[in-house]
Amino acid sequence: MPLYEYELCDGECVVCGGRFTLRRPLTAPALTQCPACQKPVRRVLSGFSTPKLLKPVSVTDAKKAGFTVLKRVSKGEYERQ
Ligand SMILES: [Zn+2]
Repeated sequence: MPLYEYELCDGECVVCGGRFTLRRPLTAPALTQCPACQKPVRRVLSGFSTPKLLKPVSVTDAKKAGFTVLKRVSKGEYERQ
């Protein structure tokens, strides 16, 4: 059974601490209330790594990534490359 993490949408709960994990079958309906205090909860997506934004390391990479690269030609002036 997958482990789900939940947190309270609002307020605090002394019973569950405001954040708790529950083992539930995949087929179980989404939990909307804390089983302990009946306050509304939402599922916390944990264990997923958010994809890191690719940082362009060069002008070429930046252009490939769709950046408009501006070259600084003099003080306060920039030139489109
Ligand atoms: Zn609770």
